[in-house]
Amino acid sequence: PRLADLLDDVTGSDEWVRDLTVLAQHTDSVPENVYERLTEIKRANKVDFATWVARREGVEVDPEAIFDVQIKRLHEYKRQLLNALYILDLYFRLKEDPDLETPKRVFIFGAKAAPGYVRAKAVIKLINAVANLVNNDEEVNSRVKVVFVHNYNVSPAEHIIPAADVSEQISMAGKEASGTSNMKFMMNGALTLGTLDGANVEILDAVGEDNAYIFGATKDELPSLRENYDPTWYYQNVPGLARVLDALVDGTLDDNGSGWFADLRRSLLDGGNQADTYYVLGDFESYRTTKDGMAADYEDEKSWARKAWVNITRSGRFSSDRTIQDYADNVWKVSATPIRVG
Ligand SMILES: *Cc1c(COP(=O)(O)O)cnc(C)c1O
Repeated sequence: PRLADLLDDVTGSDEWVRDLTVLAQHTDSVPENVYERLTEIKRANKVDFATWVARREGVEVDPEAIFDVQIKRLHEYKRQLLNALYILDLYFRLKEDPDLETPKRVFIFGAKAAPGYVRAKAVIKLINAVANLVNNDEEVNSRVKVVFVHNYNVSPAEHIIPAADVSEQISMAGKEASGTSNMKFMMNGALTLGTLDGANVEILDAVGEDNAYIFGATKDELPSLRENYDPTWYYQNVPGLARVLDALVDGTLDDNGSGWFADLRRSLLDGGNQADTYYVLGDFESYRTTKDGMAADYEDEKSWARKAWVNITRSGRFSSDRTIQDYADNVWKVSATPIRVG
């Protein structure tokens, strides 16, 4: 609602509700205070989220922090594991160097696993174990928090998405047909951190590379990269990677004696070039570099707000009304017919 009021004011009417593409006329040439208002709106939404999540999950989060969000079904191809490994790595970096320059971060997850998908459940357990480690460590927990929102569905989504700064869309390239949460986030002024996969490609096309954070191997690069892929090389040579992978089995994290975390580690390392089906270790360094850079960019409040504004105003093409109109015109070849209601 707060963002809707701003769009009414900037566009001079609520016509954008029926035709979201009109927002694109307002990408540039906006009154100066739009960026300030947008920042205030996001801040207010984050304060609301903090209140909601404290009640629902018992975790206190700082609305000044970057809200970095990955909410979607739990699946290996969507690579929640890559995000979890990044957080563990950040945790170790902060333990090693308490003076490390990094803005405050809140990492928010929401995901369900299919009933028989044990490895997906293991990832949920891992995220919760990482949250336990980080949130209870007095040396780190004023700077980083991790929240797993249980029973993720559209009701929590209504609280989470308006409060998001960063939209995690990090599937292995070639796997996501489209994705739709990427669009919901964009419309609500979160910036995409993503691979060139599914509709992330169209989002990048809509906003330009200054207004999205793209990393990782592309669909075209992956087949040749995989031919000679040796995940063990990455384990041994990417700084920090051995430390996080070893943390899965050295007692740092508690999987309740299930052996699930050891299985996750094996899934990444055992089996030569057949291991790590979703190229988590191969993309790790690119992901870390891009995500660290994104966090640094967040410090420039106005520049960040401008990027968010570009995302909001260029989201019109993802409107379902625009999509249905295209079907009517190009597929069904039907024209509009007035109907009487009531
Ligand atoms: C949008 C949405 C999804 C789809 O999310 P993706 O990130 O596109 O996979 C799944 N669940 C809920 C509750 C949603 O609102």
